[in-house]
Amino acid sequence: MKTAIYPGTFDPITYGHLDIIERASRLFDKIIITVAQNPTKSPLLSAEERVELIRKVLVDVDVDATLIVEPFEGLIVDFARKRKADAIIRGLRAISDFEYELQMALVNRRLYPKVSTVFLMPHEKYTYLNSSIVKEVASFGGDIENFVPPLVRETIENIYKQKRKKR
Ligand code: ADP
Repeated sequence: MKTAIYPGTFDPITYGHLDIIERASRLFDKIIITVAQNPTKSPLLSAEERVELIRKVLVDVDVDATLIVEPFEGLIVDFARKRKADAIIRGLRAISDFEYELQMALVNRRLYPKVSTVFLMPHEKYTYLNSSIVKEVASFGGDIENFVPPLVRETIENIYKQKRKKR
């Protein structure tokens, strides 16, 4: 029974994240998606909202692995140790992700040598995608259909519609 943790902010979850979850689910029996509060990034959605949204989106994802979604704050290696996880999953989109990710992976390995970071590359069509660009497009009323599942699209578009009304 191999367990992996997939940590992130997921503000909001995109098709890029889902691509990584599907790939990881072919390698691991259980994947725990940990949602960081990350107040420094001033997220659009609360951690609870992000957890709820991911859970709902995952209902339509057909994979063999067990998928669990939990909010989490703190050191990911502490969580990994507690849950006896074998791996931390991270997505690598471009060279620009690499330096920071390598540093994190090496620090995490120093802190908890039993855990390995596994990097997965998404489908090429998602290499340009991140949550920030989705929010930027939606904030100007652009269509985010190709970037996020329908429920996420509806949620994010509604938030920006409300914001625009208040202006
Ligand atoms: P953070 O960058 O705050 O850790 P994110 O939610 O943005 O959180 O990302 C979580 C993980 O998912 C990271 O490893 C990131 O590289 C990866 N990821 C995000 N978007 C994509 C994408 N389009 N394709 C592949 N991996 C992605």
